[in-house]
Amino acid sequence: MKVFSVFGITKSGKTTTIENIIRELRRRNYSVGSVKEIHFEAFRIDQEGTNTDRHKKAGSQLVTARGEYETDILYQNKLSMNEILKAYDHDFVVLEGVEDINAPKIITAHNIEEIEARLDETVIAISGIVSNHMDSYKGIPVMNSKTDIVKLVDYIEGKVFERLPDFPEDCCSVCGYSCTQLCAEIIKGNAKREDCIINSHKTRLKINGKDIDMVPFVEKILYNAVIGVVGELDGFKDNSKIEITIGF
Ligand code: SF4
Repeated sequence: MKVFSVFGITKSGKTTTIENIIRELRRRNYSVGSVKEIHFEAFRIDQEGTNTDRHKKAGSQLVTARGEYETDILYQNKLSMNEILKAYDHDFVVLEGVEDINAPKIITAHNIEEIEARLDETVIAISGIVSNHMDSYKGIPVMNSKTDIVKLVDYIEGKVFERLPDFPEDCCSVCGYSCTQLCAEIIKGNAKREDCIINSHKTRLKINGKDIDMVPFVEKILYNAVIGVVGELDGFKDNSKIEITIGF
């Protein structure tokens, strides 16, 4: 699953950019999900006094509103991006307004000052209002999503990679970097996604169909335990692909 974020100040062209990107990705037959970060503190879909609000106040910890046209699962707290993304299994997930994610980013802006305020090593492109009057900034392409959507999505296809983990700095450094540094180095072209041992897929664990991120030592324990048992069985050869399913 490839994840990237489009972020910038209000009315800088963020949602329009995302709409155009989603439309073009779907036209290319990718499955696409999206997440919108709401910065308005008082925001809530569930209103005071509704039946679902009454469930919540009575103590229900997960409330679902099931209607004819949509189903809304109302968590009672702000989830981390990691927790939210576990619900997705799409080719691309586009995040709107999310900055705290270890993934490539596109800035939307009115002007250079707004770009400068947000620029870091994970920015792959710039779009929004500013793209009406410039086509690159400090070597980063500036693309208009209305007039140049094919070019912008070609670029996204080439630059956005399978989601990286986001473990703390001192996690493993097997790739030679921290998780956030590796993201920046891949974008610069100095490293590859495969340099991260997570999901380079020596060992992969799914629970109820969803991939589970494992920190390296857990992955190693699981790998050694399975190889220790299966390696003794007839039919096993080095580099065999082993699949185990537990459950009903
Ligand atoms: S190998 Fe993967 S999990 Fe370990 S620090 Fe690098 S990016 Fe993070």
